[in-house]
Amino acid sequence: MNILVINCGSSSLKYQLLDMKEEQVLAKGLVERIGIEGSRIKHTTTGKDQVTIEEPMKDHKKALEMVLNALVDSEYGAIKSMDEIEAVGHRVVHGGEKFANSVIIDDEVMKAIRECIELAPLHNPPNIMGIEACKELMPNTPMVAVFDTAFHQTIPKANYMYPLPYELYEKYGIRKYGFHGTSHKYVSQRAAELLGRPIEELNIVTCHLGNGASVCAVQGGKSVETSMGFTPLEGLAMGTRSGDVDPAVILFIMEKEGLSFDEVNELLNKKSGVLGLSGISSDFRDLEEEAAKGNERALLALQLFCNRVKKYIGAYVALMCRIDALVFTAGIGENSPAVREHICNGLECINIKLDKELNQVRGKEARLNSDLTSTAIFVIPTNEELMIARETKELVEK
Ligand code: AMP
Repeated sequence: MNILVINCGSSSLKYQLLDMKEEQVLAKGLVERIGIEGSRIKHTTTGKDQVTIEEPMKDHKKALEMVLNALVDSEYGAIKSMDEIEAVGHRVVHGGEKFANSVIIDDEVMKAIRECIELAPLHNPPNIMGIEACKELMPNTPMVAVFDTAFHQTIPKANYMYPLPYELYEKYGIRKYGFHGTSHKYVSQRAAELLGRPIEELNIVTCHLGNGASVCAVQGGKSVETSMGFTPLEGLAMGTRSGDVDPAVILFIMEKEGLSFDEVNELLNKKSGVLGLSGISSDFRDLEEEAAKGNERALLALQLFCNRVKKYIGAYVALMCRIDALVFTAGIGENSPAVREHICNGLECINIKLDKELNQVRGKEARLNSDLTSTAIFVIPTNEELMIARETKELVEK
């Protein structure tokens, strides 16, 4: 079964076509600058050279048309006709409390996804545009929505509620939802496979450390706590997001600096995190380079980032009583031995013992502890597309 996986942003569209018999990627690509001058698609069919096609794309429908044309192109395509795409899996950011699992998309599901726009005003609208474009261009192909929030719907109420007036939860759905669910689910399942043990008997802490970053406590295969909250702003310090701050600080700076809602939103989401702290960059490669040259604020940003991850790991071990595996994934988690070493440094007290030599690995699956009586530590490159394709296949076959 060939499955097309679609991930739509406001001006971008990422896609992968997978053959699920062997879970092989047949083709993948990225459309950029949709609706903006300079639209282009970068397409790669496995085993062939990458091609870049520049053509005006006024909306997501036009972008998807380009993707489908690229997939069936006689020269650089991967399949002969669109009929070879048997299902489409869509990444949808927010499923609110309505979706604890992936679902086949029908009119009711579309209505429910629209109702979640209020919770994810930047993310759900482009996801919806992608689904609608697919519906028009491939009306007879089954489609599945896979939600970033769904994996976290198993978090117990005592963990997902905020200590605010209860009416705010009832009126507006203010609670923790959590994000990166597809990634946390994929890497925790993969860790269980690598350990050769059923996930039902394992306690795993997964650290998705990318430009956006979150930690998740996975008990018996289910998310029981995660660091992102009502929005992706809560939790760890990130590339440009603040993560946890005393809420009173926000009120204080709003008053002192006379900031509007939009300005505060921008400050917390785009100008904070390791960028705001270092004043240099949101990219950990730049920070590591500057810290090595002795830049104190770059070093401070790295230390603060790592300390926060460490504190969440400690908290989640306490919450689950035991930890069988610690997993690092996403851009920083997969590629920065220095960050992983900082985080694990001192965690020997909870039997997390990183082997510094095994830790010198980038971008590939590896085990980082040599003492096999200690907690398993893994680098597992995330694969959200594969997870989306697996869930799509399962639902469509049902
Ligand atoms: P992601 O959001 O998962 O794509 O991760 C992107 C982030 O990964 C970038 O902003 C970098 O901070 C980080 N990253 C990528 N490659 C490296 C590397 N070799 N060393 C350190 N950090 C890296």
